[in-house]
Amino acid sequence: MGKITQGSWVESANRPGNDFPIENLPYGTFRLSAPQQLARTGVAIGDQILDFTSVAEILGAEAIPAPLRQGDLNAFMAMGPSVRQSFRHQLTGWLGADASEASRLKAALVPQSDVQMQLPCRIGDYTDFYASIHHATAVGKLFRPDAPLLPNYKWVPIGYHGRGSSIGVSGQQIVRPTGQIKAAADGQPPEFGACRRLDIELEVGAFIGAENMLGQPVSMTNAEDHLFGLCILNDWSARDIQAWEYQPLGPFLAKNFASTISPWIVTMEALAPFRVPTQRPADDPPPLPYISSPEDRSQGGINMTLEFLLQTAKMRAAGQPPQQLSVSNLRYAYWTFAQMLTHHTSNGCNLQAGDLLGSGTMSGPKPSEAGSLLELTAGGKAPVMLANGETRTFLEDGDVVVLKAYCESPDAVRIGLGECVGWIQSALR
Ligand code: CA
Repeated sequence: MGKITQGSWVESANRPGNDFPIENLPYGTFRLSAPQQLARTGVAIGDQILDFTSVAEILGAEAIPAPLRQGDLNAFMAMGPSVRQSFRHQLTGWLGADASEASRLKAALVPQSDVQMQLPCRIGDYTDFYASIHHATAVGKLFRPDAPLLPNYKWVPIGYHGRGSSIGVSGQQIVRPTGQIKAAADGQPPEFGACRRLDIELEVGAFIGAENMLGQPVSMTNAEDHLFGLCILNDWSARDIQAWEYQPLGPFLAKNFASTISPWIVTMEALAPFRVPTQRPADDPPPLPYISSPEDRSQGGINMTLEFLLQTAKMRAAGQPPQQLSVSNLRYAYWTFAQMLTHHTSNGCNLQAGDLLGSGTMSGPKPSEAGSLLELTAGGKAPVMLANGETRTFLEDGDVVVLKAYCESPDAVRIGLGECVGWIQSALR
């Protein structure tokens, strides 16, 4: 599916179905496996990385924007879209099939299998939204069958302030959290113990690039200029801790023990061919003017397939690959990232380069499109049957969760965001 790639001299980039053709060029930060190496930045191309430190050595320092030579992706992100776009043009020239620099730049390639990916940038603040109306309705139904959707949902992009310190990169080991859990019988004291309802949340993260000053809201017209790009996000959730603690102020320790992101940030330019109209039904109230624009309505959405796969310890021991449990799409978002960003700054709050906005669990309308085990198992009442005969309601120790995301369209070359992997470890004692 999709048209033929324009092609790169990096042959693995031209293989059909690969996540990183020349049309993608996502940014990441990595360390070479040799010890004491400083972090470096680069773009993924096929199964390789174009290492900016090496490019600067080969083509001269002026070839690479200074922050990228220094391994400081945040400072590059803050430079905004025009610098990013002209550097993308440069990169496309260097990596194109008939680039005159090909023979020299070969030495600037590093196999992805030889490096340790790091968090792509410093994440100062993390805000998680709740932008899938299908998720909000499904979860609301579990708690309030008569009124699943709260009356503010269609007016306010709901979010809460998460925590940046516990965000890790794909491959992260997730220690089962411990916390207060409500007693089975009303009136009994809660217990303090290991979470028994550990869950995933299938989300997309948006990184802030250009900053806004404190006290200066961003308008819908300019909102996309402040977005750098997207990653996959797993917002791990302890449902039993959450159920006891979240009222009246919302999520706290049930969420901030860990979040995992994919290592590559796919830029807004690479995502441009996959933009789609938003899906707000015509008979829903229109958004208030400050979070509304015709451009956003016609192309604020993104057609991005999202997959949730699980591999149990037993499957791994038997050499079985992860099994797909659900498939959803970012186009189901009721609120766009531009609306979330504009709303976030509407009180004057300043967003900084490297801040992360989570989409919220991106469930679709069908049960098979659920972005969490909470929804897939009807709140833990209907276990999922796995192909090897095992069942799951929530995650067990040794489980590996794999989230994938990619964009396909008849008019464009397929691009992918890679993978976001997390491995469940037993609770601390
Ligand atoms: Ca979430």
